[in-house]
Amino acid sequence: MNSDDLSFDQRHIWHPYTSMTQPLPCYPVVAAKDCQLALADGRQLVDGMSSWWAAIHGYNHPVINQAMSDQLSRMSHVMFGGITHPSAVALCRRLVAMTPAALECVFLADSGSVAVEVAMKMALQYWQARGQRRQRFLTLRHGYHGDTFGAMSVCDPDNSMHRLYQGYLPDHLFADAPACRFDADWDPQDIQPLRTLLAQHGGDIAAVILEPIVQGAGGMRVYHPAYLQQARRLCDHDGILLIADEIATGFGRTGRLFACEHAGITPDILCLGKALTGGYLTLSATLTTRTVAETVSNGEAGCFMHGPTFMGNPLACAAANASLSLLADNRWQAQVAAIETQLRQALLPLADVDTVADVRVLGAIGVVETHRPVNMAQLQRFFVERGVWIRPFGRLIYLMPPFVITPQALQQLTDAIRDAVTAKHQDLFL
Ligand code: PMP
Repeated sequence: MNSDDLSFDQRHIWHPYTSMTQPLPCYPVVAAKDCQLALADGRQLVDGMSSWWAAIHGYNHPVINQAMSDQLSRMSHVMFGGITHPSAVALCRRLVAMTPAALECVFLADSGSVAVEVAMKMALQYWQARGQRRQRFLTLRHGYHGDTFGAMSVCDPDNSMHRLYQGYLPDHLFADAPACRFDADWDPQDIQPLRTLLAQHGGDIAAVILEPIVQGAGGMRVYHPAYLQQARRLCDHDGILLIADEIATGFGRTGRLFACEHAGITPDILCLGKALTGGYLTLSATLTTRTVAETVSNGEAGCFMHGPTFMGNPLACAAANASLSLLADNRWQAQVAAIETQLRQALLPLADVDTVADVRVLGAIGVVETHRPVNMAQLQRFFVERGVWIRPFGRLIYLMPPFVITPQALQQLTDAIRDAVTAKHQDLFL
C-alpha cells in the first residue's frame, strides 16, 4: 500500500465509529501470522486485540487455512433455503454437543448483531405463539449487543447511540449494572434492580438479555457469577426467557468455554459469534431450547421469520469447524490460565498508579481503566511505536490477545500499557 491508497482510504472509506471529515489515522496491515501483524512499512506489531475477541488461535493458522482451502475447492457458498451441506451439519452438531444439553436448535447467521436480532425475534415470536403480548426486553446498563436496531435498543441507553436514534428505538427496560466484582463476596443487594424491574413489568417482558460475566464494549466490567444465577432464577420464576449474549465471551476467553459456565446456568437462547470461526470470517449462531424452537414454529407464521442470503455459508462453517476442532484439544485451557496469571502479575500493580482508576483481569482479558479518557490517536501511535497493537477506547485500555501468544509477546503488551499509564506524555489522555 502506498500513500495514494492511504489518502483514498481517508477520503472514501468509513472505518468503525469514525468521521469522514476528521478520520482517525489508520495503519496499513499487509499480512498477519500467529500473534503478529505486519505493517506495510515492514514493522511487526504484537496483537493484543485478537481483532476484537475473534482471532483466538492467532492469524494465518495452517489448520484453518487448510480447512477453508478444502472447502473452497468444493464450493464457497450455496443457498441454505431448501439445501443443506456437510460443513453446516458438522458445525451445528459440534455446537449442540459443546453447549448445555438443553440448547438443541441452531440458527446460523452473518454476524453477532444479527444473532442478537434473531434471538430477540425468536423471543417475540415465542410469546406471540403463546398468545401473550410481551414486547419489551429487560437488560443491563453498560451492556452492548451490537449496532443493528434491535441490538442497539438493548445497549446501554446513556453510553451508546440511544440519544441519536431517540424516538426510533423501542423503549426497553434497563436495570443498573451488577456492581459486585467477580471474586468479591456476593452482595445479594446487587440483584435488587433486576428483581424490582421484573416485579414491576414482568407481564410485559419477553426476555432478559445480558452478556454473562463480562460486559464488553459497554465498559469491560466483570461481575459476580451469583448475579447470573439469581437472574436465571428470577426468569424461571416468572417464566421469562433468558438470552445470553456470549458473542464476545464464548469459546474460552473468560477461562471457561462459555461464561455461563462460571455460574452453571443454561440460557433459553444463546448467541455466539466472533471467535466462532477463529476470527476468519463473519458467522454467528443463535441456539435455543427445543421448547422455544417448537413454540416459535407452532405460532401464527408456522415458522421462524428470518433467512439471510448467506445463512450457513459453507466457507465460514469450514473455518468454524476447524477452529472448534483446535479448541477441542483443550490446549486453550492452559493457555488462557497462563495468560490470566501473567496479566494479573503485570497489570494488577498498575492499580496504584495515579492515572489508573481500576484494573481487572479474567481469563485472557486484562483491563486497565484510567481516570481520564484516552487520546485515541496519540495513544494508538504510542503503542505502535512500541511494536504493539492495542486499541483503547474511552477510559479503557485493554488486552484480549490470541490464546497462542508467547509470554515474551504478552510482556511486550503489558510493558507498553505500563509505559502508557506511567508516561509523562500528557497528550496520551484527554
Ligand atoms: N454482542 C456482543 C457482546 C459484542 O461484543 C458484539 C461485538 N462487539 C456484538 C454483539 C455484535 O457483533 P458484530 O459486531 O459481529 O455484529
